[in-house]
Amino acid sequence: MKRIFIGITVLITLFLMLLLFRSMTSPSRQKDYPAVSIPEISPEAKRHLAEAISIPTISFGEESRFDSTAFQRYADFISRNYPLVDSLLEKKTFNDFSYLYHWKGSGDERDPILLMSHYDVVPVEPATIHNWRQPPYSGAIVADTIWGRGAIDDKTAGIAILETFEQLLQEGYRPRRDIYVALSHDEEKGGSRGASSMAAYLQERGVRFDYILDEGGAITEGIIPGVEKEVALVGIAEKGYLNLELSTSLSGGHSSIPLGTNSIDVLTAGLARLRANPFPARISEPLKLFFDYLGPESTLAMKFAFTNADVLEPLILQGLSQIPQGKANIRTTMVPTIFSSGIKENVIPKVASANINLRIIPGETVESAIAYVRKTLDDDRIRIQAQDGASDPSKVSDVESEAYEMVCRSVREIFREVVVAPHLLVGGTDSRYFAELTDHIFRFRPLRVNPDNIQSFHGLNERVTVADLENSIRFYYQLVRNSAS
Ligand SMILES: [Zn+2]
Repeated sequence: MKRIFIGITVLITLFLMLLLFRSMTSPSRQKDYPAVSIPEISPEAKRHLAEAISIPTISFGEESRFDSTAFQRYADFISRNYPLVDSLLEKKTFNDFSYLYHWKGSGDERDPILLMSHYDVVPVEPATIHNWRQPPYSGAIVADTIWGRGAIDDKTAGIAILETFEQLLQEGYRPRRDIYVALSHDEEKGGSRGASSMAAYLQERGVRFDYILDEGGAITEGIIPGVEKEVALVGIAEKGYLNLELSTSLSGGHSSIPLGTNSIDVLTAGLARLRANPFPARISEPLKLFFDYLGPESTLAMKFAFTNADVLEPLILQGLSQIPQGKANIRTTMVPTIFSSGIKENVIPKVASANINLRIIPGETVESAIAYVRKTLDDDRIRIQAQDGASDPSKVSDVESEAYEMVCRSVREIFREVVVAPHLLVGGTDSRYFAELTDHIFRFRPLRVNPDNIQSFHGLNERVTVADLENSIRFYYQLVRNSAS
């Protein structure tokens, strides 16, 4: 017995030593590049962003509140401040306010690239306006910060791209391959008029892109546990999207004589079953790559976990399940977002309905998600209806590709000490409409996100530092030169 015990202890020790050896010897995947020289950033850039923020290009839930004057002002603002972009690049307008710019290259064989951004913003909750330290549509520049709705999501990127192009045109730069820029006006409403129309137009013309860069990841500071360096998270995939309407229709009647189970009972019991039976957790391909890239850059404990993620999967999944962001990364999530039933206090309603919103992990599909919900509800009194606008998870873009290297290189050339790592985007972007037009979609903005400003995204006190704006311009400048020279 004692011998068996010793044997097992020796085996476990050897196994742990093997894992430790693996984590200590896993090489860094970060590449070094020589420093680059970037021209001075125009002092006008921050004023341009401030003006862009001051134009309230808001995507409201109700179509009737759409303010076309603001969107028209934004168009005038672009023409006025970016005269070379406006006059020298081919521009096509979609549904009045989304713009596709085409900068023709000198004709080399490579497929074009596409840089995307949206300039519509989410509304500010009226009750919170007084909690803003600077008014949300002021574009106030205070010390080193530019304030207002859209600063992070996503006006800084659009302005940085326009600044870059204006600068390059001024310098007489001519790209060797074609470059497209898409500025869309309804991303916050799902992109059905902007990005969707642009993608259909390009597809009709047979345009294929080497890569597409849209919003998504950012440069995180002090957010990823166990990694002290800043991390540029480049989204290589995004989750799928699905709304399901669940409804029941049973006998109603007078509330003084309840007849037994009614529609509200059946539907709430169904929702409780869904809550108790989440989708299975697993490490998807993008998450595995995230571990592979960050493992070598982490503190010892995290290095051990990240580099041995394959063996330690159950433990890692358990750990990630404890935090909302972790949970969203390891499984298809579902959450009820609308519930409606009842018309009067003393009437038992005949009908109850709920919307559940699902975000589908790579490896699963809209179809398999519906099948899981049906099986879990296991109640044919609950009708399940998929709503319009569903999408499967995106393909996973190849991190061994030249296109990924181009993005990483541009990050490392500008942000010397930043670690670059692929990741899974749990939200959705306009880029999903372009899935058929390229094999490589990357989702990244070179903006710094930290515990101090992370809540401002779609929330209060959205703001960006002047340094982040200037670094964004440097990044796009370098990306264009790396990709199109
Ligand atoms: Zn956005």
